[in-house]
Amino acid sequence: MEKRFVYADNAATTPVAAEVLNKMMPYLTGEYGNPSAGFYTLGQRAKAAVEEARKQVAEVLGADPKEIFFMGSGTEADNFALRGVMHSKQVKGKKRLITTKIEHHAILHTAEALANEGYDVVYLPVDNYGVVDIEALKNAINEDTALVSVMAANNEIGTIQPLKEIADICHDRGVLFHTDAVQAFGHIPLNVKELGIDLLSLSGHKINAPKGVGALYIRSGLMPLPIITGGGQEKGRRSGTENVPSIVALGEAARIKGERMEREAAYVRSLSKRLQEGVLSKIPQSALTGHPENRLPGNSSFVFSAVEGESLIMNLNIEGICAATGSACSTASLDPSHVLMSIGLAHEVAHGSLRLTLDVQNTEEDVDYIIEKLEKILDRLRKMSPVWEE
Ligand code: PLP
Repeated sequence: MEKRFVYADNAATTPVAAEVLNKMMPYLTGEYGNPSAGFYTLGQRAKAAVEEARKQVAEVLGADPKEIFFMGSGTEADNFALRGVMHSKQVKGKKRLITTKIEHHAILHTAEALANEGYDVVYLPVDNYGVVDIEALKNAINEDTALVSVMAANNEIGTIQPLKEIADICHDRGVLFHTDAVQAFGHIPLNVKELGIDLLSLSGHKINAPKGVGALYIRSGLMPLPIITGGGQEKGRRSGTENVPSIVALGEAARIKGERMEREAAYVRSLSKRLQEGVLSKIPQSALTGHPENRLPGNSSFVFSAVEGESLIMNLNIEGICAATGSACSTASLDPSHVLMSIGLAHEVAHGSLRLTLDVQNTEEDVDYIIEKLEKILDRLRKMSPVWEE
């Protein structure tokens, strides 16, 4: 096949959609009003645009627009959820925060910081598919527990968590439930009321809006303590002049996802199936990581024996393919990613990990190109490998 460019790292970020760019463009040019400048029309229009975006995000989540607060990123939403709840008076001094071993660092490093402040943090194990251990959750909740935070779907292996079951357990025990839905929002249905979610983080750049904008759903009645104080924007939850163009973009991107989610997810899932079947049938000693069915539509994560993930992604890059690995060097430590370790992979297996994440802009030709190149690259690398045994 002729050389092509294939972007297969949509879990890292996505391109800004043309429709989204069109919608935000006026707010980067003529519509530059400050939403707080309510005495004149230019400011009122900016405010109205932010409120429309709030409605659009709320609609996809089945939330009330008043429960959506715009943030500077998914990371900030996660920070606010954890710090804001643990520090709030509403939790009445309870010190325990329960999360999982496979969260994104936005959660893990925030939990660590809270532990350093004296909070009691418990990290739940997951099974070999990356599904959280429900019995461990039940055992971990005690009288001193304020909050449980479990991601909706994992960024490396794509596994989707049983959110409703987790939320029910939390509420039976009088504990709040937060979910980091940065990877899941817009890709799988998430209705906060039906699922019983108290707080939910999301991010723009995973759904074809720009980087550097996110939101936190906060169930009405909850008052997490703000981490950014100042002019009182976002009802005092998140001060700082609103990033109007990006917020407008996030709203539009959410609206589009809400409208097309079912069709797009079916399409992306069929591409991923083609990719997984092709890879597993053509490449010996390859395996899928994460849950076989309960996974994000676009996520295909593999391990290949006797190769290094870094070599794989560098060779794929030469062929014009963007991919990711949870192997050691890319995690800036000697160990493979915490996710691959937590699902029980041996070090040498996890070193050969590859994550290919597809989205709506990908095609069957992209998939066939990836399979063809991957097969050749693996064959070449393995022939050079001292540990490869056919
Ligand atoms: N949480 C998860 C699960 C993610 O995958 C990411 C980003 O990759 C984040 C949080 C952080 O989001 P942001 O990049 O908007 O800060």
